[in-house]
Amino acid sequence: MLFRSCLHPIFTLIGHISGMISLTSDAAIMYGLALISAMLSCGLFLSRQLLGGVRHTLIWASAFALGAVQWAAIAAYNSFWHETPVAFLGSTWAGGAIAIMLYAGFRERAGIRRRDGWMIAAAVVVAMFVIIPELIGHRQVSLATPQFTRMLFMSLTAWTLVGPLMRQGQRPSGVEWMAAVLMAALAALSAYVGYMRIIDCGCETNSARVVLLVGLPVLYTGTGLATVLLLAADLAQQLHRTARIDPLTEVLNRRGFDEAAQRLMAQARRKHRPMSVLIFDLDHFKAVNDNFGHAGGDRVLRAVADCVRAHCRAGDTLGRLGGEEFAILADNMAPLDAMMAAERIRGELAELSILPDGSGVTASFGVAPVFPDSVLADAIARADKALYRAKAGGRNRACLYISAVEENEPAQAQNVMPISARQIAGKKPFPAA
Ligand code: GH3
Ligand code: MG
Ligand code: MG
Repeated sequence: MLFRSCLHPIFTLIGHISGMISLTSDAAIMYGLALISAMLSCGLFLSRQLLGGVRHTLIWASAFALGAVQWAAIAAYNSFWHETPVAFLGSTWAGGAIAIMLYAGFRERAGIRRRDGWMIAAAVVVAMFVIIPELIGHRQVSLATPQFTRMLFMSLTAWTLVGPLMRQGQRPSGVEWMAAVLMAALAALSAYVGYMRIIDCGCETNSARVVLLVGLPVLYTGTGLATVLLLAADLAQQLHRTARIDPLTEVLNRRGFDEAAQRLMAQARRKHRPMSVLIFDLDHFKAVNDNFGHAGGDRVLRAVADCVRAHCRAGDTLGRLGGEEFAILADNMAPLDAMMAAERIRGELAELSILPDGSGVTASFGVAPVFPDSVLADAIARADKALYRAKAGGRNRACLYISAVEENEPAQAQNVMPISARQIAGKKPFPAA
């Protein structure tokens, strides 16, 4: 009943309309590509809002918008429209310009220095190689130009995705590899099509038709999809990072510190390496806030984090546990060496004049070993006991956790300085990384 009264007339109307349109298979594929480009462009514009105005997303979105216009124009003059010189030259040039724009976006994403002038110059050169051969009757050169442009810029894009990361010793992600392989395949296909254009066999041969009508749409859509996926992966990574970084000091927050510690502790267990934890708390920080305001206190926290970061070894992990309390997980470092490190950092902090009146802040340190078979919270609790003793002993000092003192005679702990940081302060300050 529902079918007869509602759906049947609608389907009949669709049948009539589609019966009026007669498309060649080439034109149908091109219209499909135009729609895919338009969808990719819309998706990228929308995700730009999600990412908060990242410039490379705008460049990609514009490239796919140009792609939508280009495919629609070619499809139109393949089906019902008469080809005009402007439509031909514009759509041919756009094929190359899209590749240049995509590459510009990928450079921007990789953080490579911007070269807008070069990109514009490349687009102008492509325009010349499209217009001049057409004017002097060498259309095959005009048609080959965007193909060779795509070959060059898609190869560069594939390299930009994985090359700089590998040079820095980092591993590209699965999505980055997938995008790079698709870009490289599109570059190879473009080289083949460009060659066919130059030798002027167009897409007459069967194999050429298969390459053009199957390979090109698949790779074009695939690279667009990979671009969107990359954006999603970047967004996920950015969220993951911001959830683990303290926005004020830009060191790891408690969650980030705990996760990094889990990884490092597992490695230390496997390789039987010693490990220590240093925690420190700024002395009389309430007074800093009272005298210089909360913003002044925040500036001090940032300066302290910068100073400590500068004096940590490359393998050390620095985190803000909360308020004005920080922790350093020192990998491959025995507690006595960690005491020397704590003493050195304490000295560096005490020498900083970070307050508006030229004075500085001091910090008290607690140092404890990290036992491979225990959990980080236990090590921090032990370091906290030593820190408590450093505070009780007069502040601006480092104390090492000694189980006999801390666990068995806590009542006397305040009076005990089992290993004075000052006793070892004159020794080699910080073991080399
Ligand atoms: P003590 O030497 O015993 O550690 O003294 P203290 O004054 O540092 O004592 P306490 O640890 O109780 O005070 C910490 C102060 O740190 C209180 C709090 O207002 C301030 N604080 C915590 N987080 C922040 C922050 O993000 N910014 C600023 N400006 N102050 C903070
Ligand atoms: Mg404090
Ligand atoms: Mg505190």
